[in-house]
Amino acid sequence: MKALTSVGIDCQHFINGQYRESLSKKTFENINPANEDILGSVAEGGKEDIDLAVSSARRALKGRWKTMPVTERSKILRKVGDLILERKEELAQLESLDTGKPIWLSRSVDIPRAAYNFHFFADYMTSVGTEAYQHDDLAMNYAVRKPVGVVGLINPWNLPLLLLTWKLAPCLAAGNTAVMKPAEWTPMTATVLAEICKEAGIPDGVVNVVHGFGPNSAGAALTEHPDVDAITFTGETTTGTAIMKAAAPTLKKLSYELGGKNPNIIFADSDIDEVLDTTIKSSFINQGQVCLCGSRIYVERPAYDEFIEKFKARAEKLVVGDPFDENTNTGAMIGKEHYERVLSFIELAKEEGGNIIVGGKRPEGFEKGYYLEPTIITGLDRNARCIREEIFGPVVTVTPFDLEDEVIAQVNDSEYGLSATIWTNDLRRAHRVADSVEAGIIWVNTWFLRDLRTPFGGLKQSGIGREGGMHSFDFYSELKNVCIKY
Ligand code: NAD
Repeated sequence: MKALTSVGIDCQHFINGQYRESLSKKTFENINPANEDILGSVAEGGKEDIDLAVSSARRALKGRWKTMPVTERSKILRKVGDLILERKEELAQLESLDTGKPIWLSRSVDIPRAAYNFHFFADYMTSVGTEAYQHDDLAMNYAVRKPVGVVGLINPWNLPLLLLTWKLAPCLAAGNTAVMKPAEWTPMTATVLAEICKEAGIPDGVVNVVHGFGPNSAGAALTEHPDVDAITFTGETTTGTAIMKAAAPTLKKLSYELGGKNPNIIFADSDIDEVLDTTIKSSFINQGQVCLCGSRIYVERPAYDEFIEKFKARAEKLVVGDPFDENTNTGAMIGKEHYERVLSFIELAKEEGGNIIVGGKRPEGFEKGYYLEPTIITGLDRNARCIREEIFGPVVTVTPFDLEDEVIAQVNDSEYGLSATIWTNDLRRAHRVADSVEAGIIWVNTWFLRDLRTPFGGLKQSGIGREGGMHSFDFYSELKNVCIKY
């Protein structure tokens, strides 16, 4: 396949301002999930590549990046956002090739939002303050922000550039240097981003990318490295546990954005057609592979039949197909292993007594690629594994409920607590239910409406800490208090 970018479809590491192969010369294949073709080869990083990247990030921490005025750093970050927009089409194509997501989604969400992450934090950083306390007539205290140091960024495959920039922009804004480990399934846009950062004027060594896998590979080496000060990780909860263990001996600062099993609670007083416009997206966008997707739908009984009938009709109309076809609603899932795991949940739902009222199988006409029809399951018991475990595909369950207390109890009976959506026109109920549901992010009568100043993160097994606005700066900086006695 012809290279779409100056770095090409083959992906190398980016260390100290240069593309380079692995010291071991090892590579792995990058597979296109839409047709199972090989897209190119990817440098397979190991401990020695991480060592090189971390030492270059450590050196850069003391260089021009440290002494650069905030206004200049802000200008450079703004330029990164501008360059992402300039290369929007190329990045969108790479993102869709890597992930199998529809090209319109890459063009309209992933890439513009990646640019906005940089634009937002470039502006925000110029007005970030700290605290000052006068201690009676004894002393004055003030806090100053310092960078944490070298930060390891470990990312998943579902929103590769969007989530990488969500971490990288505030990390750089706060004066840190970074070593990024993109997901092995989606190496391409991170590779281009490194080049963009250099072009925007970020000094060599400040931004490094090392490709590879997790355990016994680049990911593990990064989390164990004694010279890495913090790890920001987005991915599965079980990986979070492994990283916490690996990071414990060197007491790294950690920020975790983990899995979810997010409820979508629909009361009968809501406008069902408005609910459906959003619920079809919150269920199936990006093949249901968004951590915020509402995969457990609860509908108040008087609205249940109407909801099911209309939801089913809408889901059946979704076009599954080639990510590069503009008419496609649902593209391909990320890879073979994940695809088979999601299919196994559908089989499990049948064994658990569920009814597959739509989808549940590979669409006709596709012999290759990881395609799955949008799938709706009803009739499951609250203890069914399909209701309790994160499936992370175009698969939702729908359950009726009678009482507000009953639905809150069901919703909270989960080890996850990332986000929740509530649909009601009753203002008091909206406040009441929002207050009771155990989740870090609650949307009322909307979904995925993001103001980047707000705290983002999950409760329970869905995360540790918050990112967004001031919360990002709190993670990516160390606060030092100065007490001056009068
Ligand atoms: P994953 O945990 O398998 O992998 C994420 C990253 O961690 C990859 O780069 C991988 O190589 C690396 N990794 C794996 N094992 C590692 C180890 N032992 N040490 C160091 N690094 C390791 O997750 P995934 O399958 O890529 O992504 C899907 C998951 O991410 C879902 O659970 C989803 O809910 C979650 N997610 C959460 C959010 C959020 O904001 N809360 C956002 C997106 C995705």
